[in-house]
Parts: sequence; C-alpha cells; structure tokens
Amino acid sequence: MFHIIWFIPITIVLLILIACLRTIILKARTKDSHGVTTNIPFIEDPTRAANHLAEAVTFATIAASDWEKTDFTAFRDFQEFLKKTYAHTFSKLEVLDAGPYNIVLRWAGSETTLLPALLLAHQDVVPAADIKEWTYPPFSNQIKDGYVWGRGSFDAKGQLIAIMEALETLVEKSFKPARTWYIAFGCDEEVRGSHGAAAIAQYFKSQNLRFAFVLDEGGVVAEGFIPMLPHPVAVVGIAEKGDVNVKLTCDREGGHSSSPNNPTALSILGRAMWRLEAKQSRAIITTPVSLMLTTLGLHAPFLLAIPLLNLWLFKPLIAAIFRKTPAMNALLRTTCAVTMAQASDAPNVIAKQAVAVANLRLLPHQSTEQTLTWMRRRINDKRVTCTPLEKTMRSQSSSIDSPEFALLTETIKEVFPSAIPTPYLMTGGTDAIWYEPLSSQVYRFTPAAMNTGELNRMHNRDERFSVENLCKATQFYMTLLTRGNA
Ligand SMILES: [Zn+2]
Repeated sequence: MFHIIWFIPITIVLLILIACLRTIILKARTKDSHGVTTNIPFIEDPTRAANHLAEAVTFATIAASDWEKTDFTAFRDFQEFLKKTYAHTFSKLEVLDAGPYNIVLRWAGSETTLLPALLLAHQDVVPAADIKEWTYPPFSNQIKDGYVWGRGSFDAKGQLIAIMEALETLVEKSFKPARTWYIAFGCDEEVRGSHGAAAIAQYFKSQNLRFAFVLDEGGVVAEGFIPMLPHPVAVVGIAEKGDVNVKLTCDREGGHSSSPNNPTALSILGRAMWRLEAKQSRAIITTPVSLMLTTLGLHAPFLLAIPLLNLWLFKPLIAAIFRKTPAMNALLRTTCAVTMAQASDAPNVIAKQAVAVANLRLLPHQSTEQTLTWMRRRINDKRVTCTPLEKTMRSQSSSIDSPEFALLTETIKEVFPSAIPTPYLMTGGTDAIWYEPLSSQVYRFTPAAMNTGELNRMHNRDERFSVENLCKATQFYMTLLTRGNA
C-alpha cells in the first residue's frame, strides 16, 4: 500500500528532474548571440522612402473577388508611379511579362552556378470600410507622428516599397549581385492570388526555374510574443495553414410560419453550426511549432524553458496555455469559424433551404477530406450536407538546416539585434504557397518590429507603418541582397 501511494509523486518528481536536467544541458549548448555588432547600410534620407510609401498608398489597388469588377486603372497608375519613382531599377533590371497587372523583375547575377532567389510582396490591398472612423482618409498621402498612414501602408506596400528602395539604392551605387534575384509583386493576394502569384509561378515553371529560397510577407519581429520572454521574437513562417470554405446546407419543408412543421431548416442548421464551434479539434504540435517552441526555450528564462524544451512531458500544459489566446490557439489546431448564413427573406416565411458557410484553417498536414469527415462526425445530422467551395493547397514545411535559412536569420539579427529569429507556422494565407513547388525553402517574414496593437490595424482601420520600420525593412533587403552573394 505504501508503495502505491508514493509511486505517483515519486514518478512526477523524477520526470520533472529529468526535464530540468535536459533543460540545463540544452541551454548550456546554446550560445546567446544577442547584441552582435551591426554593419547594416546607412539610410541617408529616411523621408525619401516615407514619401514614396505615402504616395503608393494613394492608389486604391483593390482586387475584387469577382476579378472583372477590379478597378484596373488603379493598378496601371500604381505601376506607372513605380516606374517613374524607381527609374534606375526599371532600366537596369529585366522586366518580365507574367500577366498584365503583375510586376516581375530579374536582376542578373555574375555567378551562374548559384541558384536564383526570389523576393515577393503584393500590390493589392483590402478595401477600407468605415471610412469616417479613420483618423486620416485611407487612400490619402499622410505622414504623421512618425508613421505613414493608410490602407496598404503595412500590408503589403510597406514591404514592396522597402524592396524597391533597396534595389534603387544598390543600383544607384552600381552594386552588382553575384546571385541572380527575381522580384515578383502579384496583383490579387487578398483574393487568393489566382491572377497574381499563381500566374507568376506558372510563368517561372515554364522557364524551368528553381529558387534557392523564396521570401514573402509573413511573421514580424513581434514584441511581447510570449510573456516572460525578455526579447522580441522574429517569427519566420516555414509553412502556412490551409484555408477552405465549406457550405452547410439543410433542405426542409418551407411554408407559412403560422403553422410550422418544426424544426425548421434554419434551426437544424443552427444546431449544426453550434456543434462545429462548441468543441475544438485536437491540439497537434506540428513541425514548425515544435521548432518554434524549442528555439524560444533555448533563449527563455529557466522556468519558462523547462516546459518549452520538454514537450514530451508538458504538451498538455502548453496546449492549455495556448488555448487562452486565439492567435496562439490557432497554431495548434485546425480552427473553424461559421462566417455566413442565409435562410428566408421574410419573418413570416419558413425557408425551404438554409445555407451557411464555415471557414476552416487547416493544419498543414490535414486534407480537405479529413476535415470534412471531422465536420460530419461533429455535426452528426444526416439532414445537413457539407460541400467544400474550393480546393485547398497543402503547405509543406520548408527546410531550416541550410545556408539560406542561416543567411535569413543572420540578416534578421543584424538589423534587429535584440530579436530571436525562430521558425513558425503562419496561421494566415500568403502568396508564398503558390511558389512551394519551385523551391524547398519558402519563407514568410516581414522585416518590421510590431506589437499586437500595431498588428491589429492590419485589414482594420487606421492601418499604418512607422518610418522607422520602413528604414529597417529597407536596410534588411539591402543587407540580404548584398550578403546573398554568399
Ligand atoms: Zn498581405
């Protein structure tokens, strides 16, 4: 009896001791390289880039989900602005034709044995709702309080302008790259990229191109990423979650609401919707997230490092903590949000059919079929049918054991010396997924330091990008383009 009572606590103490010992050993092997001496390029005139970004924002380059309804004039005017503003770049680099509204440039390198690399951003922006609530009109030319304000200033014209500023400065200085660089700015990232990134990737494929690495927008240098962690974390997406919309339909008898044959189609559908959201899918620590937790653990204070470096013991604890914050919870699970619903047009008419749409964000390894099986089991009602509205692309985790990933993280550490670069899983979608067949190293990172408050302005009102971040981003791309010779 004595033995049985003491067996559990002794086992727990032993396991914790093993976890502590592992943490000590793993941390001792890591050398902390913060505060490396930086040798980043000096930006002589920060207002130049800021003025260019503020003007770039004035072009309302909104790609309509019904493509033919897009205001193509805004895209043409934006491209004319870029050609005029970055005249040296457009005359020195080869301009390639991969669709009328895409911008694709090629900067030939001297070293033909090196595989080319590809830098991405997108020209399109999401529409601006509630215009009256914006501090400054969303498509006006505004630099105030150290920020460029307006729709797209962050997502992703900040990145696009930083790439162009870096190219223009290097071309002006007669820099000659060893590696060949491709630059591609798609026109419809916000509506799934079929006319932009998909067309460009298809063009590259027709040219039999492979890339050493691809760098798109993505994670930022996040301040306050994990409480107790004293450093900002530069999160580099090495894979992204899938995105699928599933239509839920229920067909029943319609008629007058004064003599209903309950339950109605809408109420059956309502129960199904509730069941989908009431119980979350299983928490799974995928490769990108496991790599992220390990990297953070190596730099975390000892107490925080113990669970982060010992997932074999603390996975349930990590899952419970992550569950409390929606952004962290989304890293561990396939999520489901019912976003649209429609039934009758009148209060006294029972609809024959009720329809809803659920938006699911799938963990990278998960297929649409597996997700549909999960949904049908959860709903557990034959009267409700689930139909996916599109095909999902499954993202592959990119390699991080490579000189290219090291080049990226070294560049991050030079421009943001206090940051810890880490692999990460992108919970949102990007153009990058279209380029995965062209490279085994597709990374998603936006070189800008942001806290949650700033990040929340993306796709929201009062979007803005600080002049300081614009300079940092320009320095980042200049460093990458010059160091990328290695
Ligand atoms: Zn974007």
